[in-house]
Amino acid sequence: MMFCFWPYPQIDYAERAPLPRNMIENSLFEEEPDVVDLAKETPSSSSSFPLDPDDVVYEPRSSRLLVRGLGENDADEEEEDYESSARLLGMSFMNRSSNQRAANQRTAYTRQDPSSFCSCLPSVRTMVAGVFVLVLVASLIMVIYFLPGCTFTREGCKKANTSQDSIYPIATDGQPFPWADLRLPSSVVPVHYDLLLQPNLTSMTFRGSVTITMTLQQDTDVLILHSADMTISKATFQDKEVKPLEYKPWQQIAIKFPQLKKGQTCTLKVDYSAHLSTSYDGFYNSSYIDTTGTKRVLAATQFEPLAARKAFPCFDEPAFKATFSVKIKREAEYISLSNMPKIGTTQEDGLLLDEFEKSVTMSTYLVAFIVANLSSVSRNVSGTQVSVYAVPDKKDQVQYALDSAADLLQFYNKFFDIDYPLKKLDMVAIPDFLAGAMENWGLITFRETTLLVGNHSSPLDRQLVTSVIAHELAHQWFGNLVTMKWWNDLWLNEGFASYMQYMSIEKLFPQLDIDNEFLNIRFRALAKDSLNSSHPVSAVVKTPEQVEEMFDSVSYEKGASILLMVNSTLNDGEFQKGVIEYLNKYKGRNTVNEDLWNSLSSVSKLSISVAQMMNTWTLQKGFPLVTVNRIGPTVNLSQEHFLLDAGNVTSNNVWHIPLTYVNDSCSTARGCKQVFLLKDKSAKLDIPAGVKWLKFNYKNEGFYIVDYGVEGWKALIKALKEDVNVLPHEDRAALVNNIFMLSRLGKVPFRQVQNMLSYMSNETETAPLTEALIHLMHILRMLEKRQDLFLVNRMKAYIINHFGDLMDSQSWEEESSVAKQTLRSMLLEISCGLHRANCTEKAMDAFQTWVASNGTYRIPSDLMRVVFSVAVQTEDGWNRVLQAYKLSLYDSEKRRMLEALASTQDVSNIVWILRAGLSGSDIQNQELPLVISTVCKGLAGYLYGWNFVKENWGKITQKFPIGSFAVQSIIVSATSQFSTKLQLLELENFFSSLKDKGSQMRTVQEAVETIKLNMLWMDKNLDTLRTWL
Ligand SMILES: [Zn+2]
Repeated sequence: MMFCFWPYPQIDYAERAPLPRNMIENSLFEEEPDVVDLAKETPSSSSSFPLDPDDVVYEPRSSRLLVRGLGENDADEEEEDYESSARLLGMSFMNRSSNQRAANQRTAYTRQDPSSFCSCLPSVRTMVAGVFVLVLVASLIMVIYFLPGCTFTREGCKKANTSQDSIYPIATDGQPFPWADLRLPSSVVPVHYDLLLQPNLTSMTFRGSVTITMTLQQDTDVLILHSADMTISKATFQDKEVKPLEYKPWQQIAIKFPQLKKGQTCTLKVDYSAHLSTSYDGFYNSSYIDTTGTKRVLAATQFEPLAARKAFPCFDEPAFKATFSVKIKREAEYISLSNMPKIGTTQEDGLLLDEFEKSVTMSTYLVAFIVANLSSVSRNVSGTQVSVYAVPDKKDQVQYALDSAADLLQFYNKFFDIDYPLKKLDMVAIPDFLAGAMENWGLITFRETTLLVGNHSSPLDRQLVTSVIAHELAHQWFGNLVTMKWWNDLWLNEGFASYMQYMSIEKLFPQLDIDNEFLNIRFRALAKDSLNSSHPVSAVVKTPEQVEEMFDSVSYEKGASILLMVNSTLNDGEFQKGVIEYLNKYKGRNTVNEDLWNSLSSVSKLSISVAQMMNTWTLQKGFPLVTVNRIGPTVNLSQEHFLLDAGNVTSNNVWHIPLTYVNDSCSTARGCKQVFLLKDKSAKLDIPAGVKWLKFNYKNEGFYIVDYGVEGWKALIKALKEDVNVLPHEDRAALVNNIFMLSRLGKVPFRQVQNMLSYMSNETETAPLTEALIHLMHILRMLEKRQDLFLVNRMKAYIINHFGDLMDSQSWEEESSVAKQTLRSMLLEISCGLHRANCTEKAMDAFQTWVASNGTYRIPSDLMRVVFSVAVQTEDGWNRVLQAYKLSLYDSEKRRMLEALASTQDVSNIVWILRAGLSGSDIQNQELPLVISTVCKGLAGYLYGWNFVKENWGKITQKFPIGSFAVQSIIVSATSQFSTKLQLLELENFFSSLKDKGSQMRTVQEAVETIKLNMLWMDKNLDTLRTWL
């Protein structure tokens, strides 16, 4: 999945009921001390009793949750039916039945309690002492029959009678639900799904029928799978009608049946109906207004991470791979698409029935289908039919995507040395879609902005579209062919797809300047990962909120960054070789973190262990700060956790750092790079005596920050002032980034930052300039929000002094270089934002020309945002831009207009746009996070933005699930500029009042930490700013 700076589809967990533990604690079993809170339980930390020791595919299900309440007397009626004849056979059946039940599917959740048997022995012995031998024999027989779970082995009593003391959640119908974990048991695995769907785009409902063929991994008498928000009309298991039990809070259903043996095959058929989802996930309805003003509807899917279960009952975890045969019944005015090519269409009850080929083996989150009226173009690429689909009004915007996808598909076929395995690849622009895109195998879905390119769109637009296609195509191998076992290793999908997206574009489309973008991404990832609220790349994940929260900067951006680091550390070609080895070894299967490193290790000729090195980067959070202290020819190196510390947190993390460096005698060519592996807290490095300066972390390819000490910084700044080209532009940008980060950490005074920036009068490259501007603007925005007018004015003057000439020299004509577009749009937005007449007058001129031309004059697209942002500050401008927004057929243009509208400083317009974003009428709900973040950047809007978030929290979390990227983005953008105690208190009070409606989110911790850090920075630096600005 891909965000492209905006949030992704949501899952509605607002109705989630409390965990069973809460139910239990509040009712029957309060006295039990052994009950474990599942929410705190983790797969890695818990003592688990693996269901099947031979099972290496699935992680052992965790939890020591005490399981009670299912004694023979509690057995449900279906089971009693099945068992009734056997029951006639007498007690021995009962005994065996509960014994096996305990030994099989529930083993993981039963409390081991040897005392229950052993405590019986003395009483038996007492009887022996007091009564006849016959009574003894009778007693032993009684023991054998009535205390199942205890067997007479050398180990003595191994197992307690689980049926006497088991706690289960309560199913919807009031019966005990026979499973007590969010994760499914691995006793039954799906092999194939036959799926028939019939959506009704008038009533916005659908009917479905699924037949699942499964095999048993062990003896069992219960089947647990996922199902959500549907009405089951009929279920048959092994051709016998059954009544599934449902536990809604965990979206699970259960079928109980007479014991089946390991290795047996069984089938479950479920007929059901549901509403098409209105929250962008599951099988959901999307709509748009066409050029005639008519509302058009369509139905599409978005399953990742947890929503396939809303479209059909299934084993909705990535490790439960299976094949799928999909049939879709539709009205003649629509077409239908699914992952695989269509076999044929037949007529049935006045409708058309499309049948698709049986799929490759895949995870449920990759299944997809669409019913819509779409136009397409196609092309054969190395035996694969590649097509791009869009709504008919936009059919002239699909060619660029088709051509780019063709190039990328050929590149990946070659790079991975495995051909894309399907005969077709569809890419579909969905009019109303929250994610950037989704990599469904063979049927990739996109936002219109990330797939459609009009004739006039800019290189920046094409960079975005190409990036997203490159990301999603990489997933067809990384994610689809080889999939992470569980969401804790989501980075294996997302970090890799992100890295491949930059690598492939750099090779195939050098004109798109993707390097600068990737460098920027790495800087942003460092900033996020410097907080104590960050998490390891491979983190513990259990609850749906935790799964949602994995779709964040760490999985995507840090994941991509550490892959770059490992690639640039390995010898040429080894990375690709290792990846091919990994894909071949695991294709069709699931993997963990370690599997990738082992594959890379196995092909590498380096003396270091890739797995050992990379585990220090994936299993612990954060990254290192390397401090360099040079004394003559000796360089003392030390490492510590770069942790922006707002609360005296300590960390002993140590990384294996492939430290790279260049010096003044050879500093720009790749051949100049030298490598030193820093594995310990400190080390010494010898260098030639005459070296004037050292620059570490060549081109910022490593994920760490370097402090050169007073003398080291001085030497570097001096060298840059003499000749900026003494270092590559990536290295210059990294120096700027690192010194700002060190200032935040309190390691260097702000004065030193200013020294660094003084070299910039000679700087013309995008990366170092934008890096400096990003940090300076962040400080300015914080000062603005503290209403420290003196410092605000000084800071503005400082920015203009340093960058004013550069701002004024920017052209307002069409520009073909992406790097130049990126730089000029940032410079001009800042310039106009600081109300410089030079800028605002030119922007208004461009706006007036656009108005007068009646749509024939096109503002260069990278300048649209600045032009419209100036224009909307007048009433006439606001009205015109709003009107144009409603009519535009180009989604990328619409988004720029929307950002301009949201930058209004007029209070009534601010209120209007926030409400419109929430209501979804004039502005689609998918844009709400963008609206809030843009409003909050402005001085007039930021308090309204925060109040709006607080007042509408309930509605926001109904549309976007707690923990989702949308909610993460809303919280961060609404609060990241706070820097006073009062603001902190207010935020803390608000979130603690939410309790289970969001107080536990990692993003909330991040927001609190960020405000504290802002306060600290202000405390430390306000005086310096007053003195030096
Ligand atoms: Zn992705």
